[in-house]
Amino acid sequence: MMKYGEATAYKICNFLSPNKIIFGVNAVNQIAKEIRNLGRKNPLVVTDPGVVELGLLKDLEEMLKADKMDMGLYGKVVPEPPSRIVDECAQLARDKSYDLIIGIGGGSSLDIAKGVSIMATNDGNVLDYAGTDMVPRAGLPMILIPTTAGTGSEVTRVFVVTDEKDHSKKTVFSNYVLPDVAIVDPALTQSMPLTVTADTGIDALVHAIESYVSANANPFSDILAIEAVRLVGENLYPAYAKASNMNARTGMSLAATLAGMAFTSGGLGAVHALAYPLGTLFHLSHGRSMAVMLPYIIDYNRIGNLEKYGDVAEAMGVVTDGLSKYEVSEALIDAVYRLLEILNIPVELKDYGVEEKDIPDLTAGAMKQARLFVPNPRDLREADIEGIYRKALQGA
Ligand code: NAD
Repeated sequence: MMKYGEATAYKICNFLSPNKIIFGVNAVNQIAKEIRNLGRKNPLVVTDPGVVELGLLKDLEEMLKADKMDMGLYGKVVPEPPSRIVDECAQLARDKSYDLIIGIGGGSSLDIAKGVSIMATNDGNVLDYAGTDMVPRAGLPMILIPTTAGTGSEVTRVFVVTDEKDHSKKTVFSNYVLPDVAIVDPALTQSMPLTVTADTGIDALVHAIESYVSANANPFSDILAIEAVRLVGENLYPAYAKASNMNARTGMSLAATLAGMAFTSGGLGAVHALAYPLGTLFHLSHGRSMAVMLPYIIDYNRIGNLEKYGDVAEAMGVVTDGLSKYEVSEALIDAVYRLLEILNIPVELKDYGVEEKDIPDLTAGAMKQARLFVPNPRDLREADIEGIYRKALQGA
């Protein structure tokens, strides 16, 4: 493992996180107090129809009522949300003069809440601000409450929306989308269906691995990322096996939040670049698209940093005694395949309707994410990307 005191191993780095993170079972009960602390009393809750059906919002409404606050509701977020949803919901926020945005749900709802917060105070459409630090004015105050354990969106300075014009994912990076308060309550994740537990759990693992092996890794991201890998290794199986296992749920919520903080500082890589087009072109969920690409990218990337992939293997509990570094990386790939098999996640692209003829479009989609190749531990050219998709089509 890299020593954190090895000054030459790292460049100058940044670390950012929300002002406040409240973590723990039943943490959500503190919501009214947090709204009061922010000096607000007219919140708009942003979420999706699945979360509305869970009944969580009734509890939220009661808590706010007890504090003499009414809440507005926008409950129409969809998975992998298009940018127009931000614009539509921001219009509602402006029309009704809401003074605080609460995002509750999976990463899709939290991302829309982030967009709504900034678009309530900035002109134009959200896609005008795609890119890095393009948002001129701070948004409305924001509280983010994840109900999945994966994206880490509650602690990151980015949100992702789909541009329906070219079917690509567009990202908005801005310090203004870090929430004032992140409330991470593992109890809220208990109701996730098996597929959501599996897909989002792998999303957290991918964030942790990609930031750990990133060329932009630094002491902050390394410490958080490797602990997140360890937590996923320890808790994803039991959380999947028993929905009500609150220790495992807590471990996964912590892993997701730490991994979000890690990648905000250390960056992501090729898994994300090659997974995004699977989401936009074949409608795989975010976490599922990451899961499918993960083993193929570890296989491709590992010669770029055998040392760090070795750390990942150890953190995931892979037995490494007596193995060479290369053999350890092979054992890691085997462990990832086993994990995906147990979580019932097929890893052959043909199982998702992808055909050989689709590879050029997928490759073109991945090439649009070239910013993610910079931190990736191995360079990627167009032919490499095509080769990886081709391998993933049939399975290793
Ligand atoms: P999601 O938000 O799309 O939700 C998936 C489904 O799970 C929905 O139907 C939702 O209703 C349901 N669900 C959520 N919580 C539930 C619960 N507790 N019980 C039952 N059902 C529940 O899924 P996600 O994987 O959390 O988020 C994916 C989105 O997050 C993508 O749009 C992706 O681009 C984005 N993302 C953002 C960041 C970031 O840093 N901003 C990072 C990673 C991913």
